[in-house]
Amino acid sequence: MPNSPILVIYTGGTLGMLPGDTGLIPGHNFQSRLRTALKTLSPARQASLPEFEVLEYPDPIDSSAATPADWQRLARDIAERYEDAHKRYAGFVVLHGTDTLAWTASSLAFQLQGIDRAVVVTGSQLPLEADGSDALGNVEAALRFAALPELQEVAVCFAGKLMRGVRTRKWNTQAFNGFASPNYPLLGELVDGSAVLYPIRGLDVQQRGLPRFELPDYKALNGSAVVRITLWPGISARLLAAWLLDDSVQGALLEVWGSGNIPEDPEILDVLAQATGEGKLLAAISQCPQGSISIGTYAAGRGLIDAGVLSGDAMTPEAAMTKLVHLIAQPLSDRERRQRFVTALVGER
Ligand code: ASP
Repeated sequence: MPNSPILVIYTGGTLGMLPGDTGLIPGHNFQSRLRTALKTLSPARQASLPEFEVLEYPDPIDSSAATPADWQRLARDIAERYEDAHKRYAGFVVLHGTDTLAWTASSLAFQLQGIDRAVVVTGSQLPLEADGSDALGNVEAALRFAALPELQEVAVCFAGKLMRGVRTRKWNTQAFNGFASPNYPLLGELVDGSAVLYPIRGLDVQQRGLPRFELPDYKALNGSAVVRITLWPGISARLLAAWLLDDSVQGALLEVWGSGNIPEDPEILDVLAQATGEGKLLAAISQCPQGSISIGTYAAGRGLIDAGVLSGDAMTPEAAMTKLVHLIAQPLSDRERRQRFVTALVGER
């Protein structure tokens, strides 16, 4: 597809923000601002950039306002153009606010399973027109990676690093090197301005399989069907029950201690067992940002197994939550949901 362009989708975020009365606000007219900014690159760098078109959302947002409905819209916009027989895009770049970028990237990976092109999500810590901004460099790098036919998955590109989207987390509130992939190595890096992929690490060689997009209706979940609960010393069964046994809650991510431990409090274990008994999908990951859980290593973790809580291994909170949402939004049996949760679908675990 040497002549196919990249589609750049602008959703908002700092990258396109402009000063407003109360702080930075999402800016419009992005395509022309981006093309103006690209003219500041050296002629050689401009000439070597892939062709691209821009799809600019009419209502760009600060990504702190994003909901599963936004993940759904984005995946559908990509899927629609991916399948368009008259117009072929070589890859996709999503420009997104950094606050919830890792959530969107994770969700896209579950919705666009088996995609045989690149979806590269990026943003920036400073707006495009700010002095010394990282925005243009991030867009340039994302375009270069998105043009690589070997990259066949949803990735995050930030500060010259390419990471698997479903393994990525926002790591620093201000530093340009603001994203990390704590439990999976980089997929690639920008080396002397060229996009370089590390062999063997990509989904194309690991488990991509045929494209099998799953585009369930997240809106039908009506808000907070999945909750995220980080344990704290002294947590009470009463508070846990208020969240887990709420009728609208269908799943929960528990962030437990170390390698998979919880307090040995029979009332807490009862609440967990009651929730799973009601068919709610409960999973656990560690509060440690690095390393996997291994439930049952300590006696203090045994209760999780008895209560039917699934292990999230080394998944990021963003991957585990978006996977729960994704599985709950589909008409699957309890058994299928549980089985898929513990199976790696897109290299997330
Ligand atoms: N609040 C912004 C957003 O996530 C932060 C950023 O883009 O860096 O949209």
